[in-house]
Amino acid sequence: MKYIGAHVSAAGGVENAPLNAAKIGANAFALFTKNQRQWVAKPLTDTSIEAFKAHCAEHGFGPQQILPHDSYLINLGHPEADKLEKSRAAFLDEMQRCEQLGLDRLNFHPGSHLKKVSESECLTTIAESINWTLDQTSGVTAVLENTAGQGSNLGFRFDHLAEIIDQVDDKTRVGVCIDTCHSFVAGYDLSTTDSCTAVFDDFANTVGFKYLKGMHLNGSKKELGSRVDRHHSLEQGFLGLDVFKYIMADDRFDGIPMVLETIDDALWADEIKLLRSYISEGANG
Ligand SMILES: [Zn+2]
Ligand SMILES: [Zn+2]
Repeated sequence: MKYIGAHVSAAGGVENAPLNAAKIGANAFALFTKNQRQWVAKPLTDTSIEAFKAHCAEHGFGPQQILPHDSYLINLGHPEADKLEKSRAAFLDEMQRCEQLGLDRLNFHPGSHLKKVSESECLTTIAESINWTLDQTSGVTAVLENTAGQGSNLGFRFDHLAEIIDQVDDKTRVGVCIDTCHSFVAGYDLSTTDSCTAVFDDFANTVGFKYLKGMHLNGSKKELGSRVDRHHSLEQGFLGLDVFKYIMADDRFDGIPMVLETIDDALWADEIKLLRSYISEGANG
């Protein structure tokens, strides 16, 4: 089964996200469980938690169809101790919010070295942050997103993700999310069927599909290898549609939330329809 949706608004409360997803014909969605640009948020209320669960049940959204995203402020690889501590505390809070909502995975950007430590030191710090958080939570998988490699952000190469996973103690609760725009601008050519085969073979060998816990389906405003993170609508920009046809026809992408983070939310319902039209006849999707 292919689960396809978008990163929908949770304005007015997390309980609105499943309703917003249902409105655009999605059977998956992403959301922020708190304001993504603030460090501290009010705890979720029992009313909000119950309404979220009820709306998910009503519209048929199970945990494997939902991919919450953490705050952009968090840097689990921060080279300075006090700031690392602040990030870890905020990440723990995000994981606990997922536990409360009955969600089983949390998507985040690995972290940035800020040109103060080496890549490998930063990757180790990120893995230690994950271990620290997993020790204090249960049932929620930490899902590393591959990045565009802008600035000093790590995670733009599959081997960064593998190096982090390698240092995580509980491998049953670590996973990855692949963003098509980020991959492309990081230098992974997803613009043709043949190049997709090569990139996803590389992913299978370097990380492994058993760790794939979600996908972000985005077009790209910037060129291959530009390391600039600018999403575009699916039918616009440099990426093209072959990668989406490839994903929809491949059962290695079954059973995980695949969400649009494309720039025009007025197009989401049509983009979801377009993606569904690529699911091949006779495939289990
Ligand atoms: Zn992201
Ligand atoms: Zn993304």
